[in-house]
Amino acid sequence: MLDKVLIANRGEIALRILRACKELGIKTVAVHSTADRNLKHVLLADESICIGGNSATDSYLNIPRIIAAAEVTNSIAIHPGYGFLAENADFAEAVEKSGFIFIGPTADTIDLMGDKVSAINSMKKAGVPCVPGSDGPLNDDEERNKSIAKRIGYPIIVKAAGGGGGRGMRVVRSENELVRAIETTKAEAAAAFGNATVYMEKFLENPRHVEIQVLADGQGNAIHLGERDCSMQRRHQKVVEEAPAPGVSEQMRSKIGDRCRRACIEIGYRGAGTFEFLYENGEFYFIEMNTRIQVEHPVTEMITGVDLIKEQLRIAAGQPLSIDQSQIQIRGHAVECRINAEDPDNFVPSPGKINMFHSPGGLGVRWDSHIYAGYSVPPFYDSMIGKLITYGESRDEAIARMRHALDELVIDGIKTNIPLQRKIMADENFFAGGTNIHYLEKKLGMAK
Ligand code: ADP
Repeated sequence: MLDKVLIANRGEIALRILRACKELGIKTVAVHSTADRNLKHVLLADESICIGGNSATDSYLNIPRIIAAAEVTNSIAIHPGYGFLAENADFAEAVEKSGFIFIGPTADTIDLMGDKVSAINSMKKAGVPCVPGSDGPLNDDEERNKSIAKRIGYPIIVKAAGGGGGRGMRVVRSENELVRAIETTKAEAAAAFGNATVYMEKFLENPRHVEIQVLADGQGNAIHLGERDCSMQRRHQKVVEEAPAPGVSEQMRSKIGDRCRRACIEIGYRGAGTFEFLYENGEFYFIEMNTRIQVEHPVTEMITGVDLIKEQLRIAAGQPLSIDQSQIQIRGHAVECRINAEDPDNFVPSPGKINMFHSPGGLGVRWDSHIYAGYSVPPFYDSMIGKLITYGESRDEAIARMRHALDELVIDGIKTNIPLQRKIMADENFFAGGTNIHYLEKKLGMAK
C-alpha cells in the first residue's frame, strides 16, 4: 500500500480522503491556505503544511507549491479530490514527473477527455452511444455547417470543445440563427477557454442527467457501479442526487454500464471515473467523462457497499481491481442533498461563523462534512459545506429518512439551503421520480 498520501484539496472531500487513508493505514499530509488552518482534516492529518494565501491560485491551484509540499514531507502519492487541479493534465504530469503517484488517470487520458470533441470521438469508437452531432469540429464553411445542422435536425446546440462548468454553449432553433451562433460561441470559447474549437449536437429538450460510475485499474480490468440521477440542478449545478435512477431497469443498467466498462478497457483508463449522459425516452446519450471522484459518489457507495476512495488508493498503489462485475450488487436506494452556505432565496453565498451545529443521525443517515460549531466558513471557495446522504431499502424510505435528517440538521449563524432541500424533499413530482434537468429551475420560477 501507499505509505503517505498528500491531499491536495480542502473541505469535505479532503476529510473523506483522510478517512479512507486512515482506514488503510496510510499516513496523511494536509496542504492548506492561510484561511484553512482550522479545517477539520488539517487538524486530523499526520502532517500539515500551509502552502499559500487565501486565494485558490495562491494555494490549491498552485502546482509548484503542492509538489514542493510533497517533496518536503516525503509523500508517495497525491490525491487531487474534485475541482481545483483534479482534471488538470499539466498537474497530473508534473506530479508524475516529480516522482509521485497521481491518484487518477494518466495526463494523456485527462487530455483526451478534457477536449469534448476527442472525448466524444473516442467514446463513439468504443461503442458508447453519443448525441447525434457534427462528428468533429465545425469549420468556417457556412454551407457545410448548415447542412450538418439540417442533417441533425433543429434545435441544435453549439458547444465549445474546451468548455466546462455549463459555459460555452448556445442553443439554435432555426437556420437563420446558425451562422451568428457559431461565430459568437467561437469568440466566447477563445476568450474563456483559450480554445476556439466548437462542435454541434442535437439539443435534447427534456432530458434527465444520468451518469455511470466506473472503476478501472489500468491493467485491463474495469467495472461499472450502476448509475446516479443528478437531474435536480440549478444553473447546471447539481443540488440533489440519487442512486439508482428512477425507471432505469436492470437490463438497461447492465447494457449501458457494460459499454462504459468496455470503453475504459479500450482507452486504458485508470482510477475512478464517471460517464455523464443525457437520458431521454429510455435512451442514453454520452456528453462527457469526468476523470476524477465526484461530489455525489456517496450515493453509489451506499447502494453497492464499495468504498470508492479506498478503491482509488488501491488502484494508485498498483493493485489490480479486487472486485469483479459479478460482485457488484445494487441494493436499496440512496439520496444526497448538497448543503450550501447560501441564502435559500437568492443563492448568494453566506460565509461566516457557525455558532451552533447539530448533525443528524440514525440508521441509514450519513453526514459527509468538515464543519463544526465555532468553524468559520471562508468566503474564498465553493459554498458547499456538507453532503447529507440517506439510505433506505426503498426510494420512499430513503426520502423519508432524508426529510427527518434535514429536520435534525441545525447550522446556525450562517444561511444555508436547508429550507430549499426541505422543499424539494416535500415536492410531489420529485417524490414520484424521474423529473428532468429543467424541473428545479421551473419550480423556482426561473424558467426562461
Ligand atoms: P459542462 O462541461 O460545461 O458541464 P456538458 O457538456 O456536461 O458541459 O453540458 C452541461 C449541461 O448542458 C448538461 O447537463 C445539459 O443540461 C446541457 N446540455 C449539454 N448538451 C446538451 C444537449 N445536446 N441537449 C440538451 N442539453 C444539453
